Amino acid sequence: MNFLLMHAELSDLYDKVAAGERITEADALRLFRSKDLNGLAKIANLACDRKNARHASYIVNRYINYSNYCILSCQFCAFARKKRDADGFQYSTEEIVEKAREALSLGITELHIVGGLHPNLPFEYYLEMLRALKRLDARLQLKCFTAIEILHLAWIAKKTVRETLQELRDAGLNSLTGGGAEIFRREVRSAIAKGKESAEEWLDVHRKWHQLGERSTSTMLFGHVESLEDRIDHLRQLRNLQDDTHGFCGFVPLPYQPENNRIPVQHPPTGFDTLRTIAVSRIYLDNFDHITAYWVGMGLKLAQLALDFGADDLHGTIVEEKIFEMAGVRGRQLQPEAEMVKAIREAGRIPVQRNTFYEQIKVWPSSEFGISAETDPADEVLALTPATKD
Ligand code: SF4
Repeated sequence: MNFLLMHAELSDLYDKVAAGERITEADALRLFRSKDLNGLAKIANLACDRKNARHASYIVNRYINYSNYCILSCQFCAFARKKRDADGFQYSTEEIVEKAREALSLGITELHIVGGLHPNLPFEYYLEMLRALKRLDARLQLKCFTAIEILHLAWIAKKTVRETLQELRDAGLNSLTGGGAEIFRREVRSAIAKGKESAEEWLDVHRKWHQLGERSTSTMLFGHVESLEDRIDHLRQLRNLQDDTHGFCGFVPLPYQPENNRIPVQHPPTGFDTLRTIAVSRIYLDNFDHITAYWVGMGLKLAQLALDFGADDLHGTIVEEKIFEMAGVRGRQLQPEAEMVKAIREAGRIPVQRNTFYEQIKVWPSSEFGISAETDPADEVLALTPATKD
């Protein structure tokens, strides 16, 4: 039976995407409201395969949170601490370099570094951290800081945002992270992250970074107090900026974690909601090449399933991710590379190790292409990868 007969409710949108036409916000709302998850998956797969063929990627990386001290108190945040709190921390440059050195021995290509808005670390601390990491290994890609950290650094450095970004880049910054976007709509933002930067400021930091010829990623925190219309408004603003700059290399929808924070959420995101959000993002963001299923936030099993709902990336192997862990995500904070490869293969896609900018480092041969169980390279990687976090 063909798509039109099986999924009549969405057949006009399938045709639209098949013809390469851009869907509207009203179309996106229809997709969100549809209960035809399989039909949605088919349209998302169509959009995904056009950009990525059958490839699905992951990155070998490590997270470092340099400090959890923060001058703000966003309502949804379980990570931030004040100086009086016993479980607050901050690392010296030497400690960060040591963590990076350990991770390099596991084959990482990227460090993902974010922290709170520290009350008194000087700008030089951040510059020296970047320089020291580049001295350790100049090839290591440094993906650091959310937009609000950049605004905070500009404030403590008494420089413009553009000057701040230029200095950080000169010190070794390769990419901004996409964190902190939350939901752009003002009413929602002030309900969950009062005092944080506005949507305009978040977008402006990324715009300025892109205008320097650099790239970044983007996120959306969904499944708390926002409406479906708010999600679409968020996607619309990202799509508009991408039309202008083409500086986003990927989009990462983040399912809200309901524990250890102050927002009462009756219905946190289910598997259904997570998959449809990934699928609608893939279909609506037609100028984004990559959609990531963030396994830390949704678990590897659901992230694997998301590869059939428009995602083409599982994010990273990651060591020591504290932000989602402190928000209540249970389980390990490291995913052996072999398990990422296996998850991608099982989903019928070709595993690709990528770098920070989603560029291919290695395309794994499929087991269907003559790699036997004994010689499966994924097993060799597994043997090299520790089973627990440090
Ligand atoms: S979300 Fe970021 S800015 Fe807000 S309190 Fe947490 S660490 Fe601070």
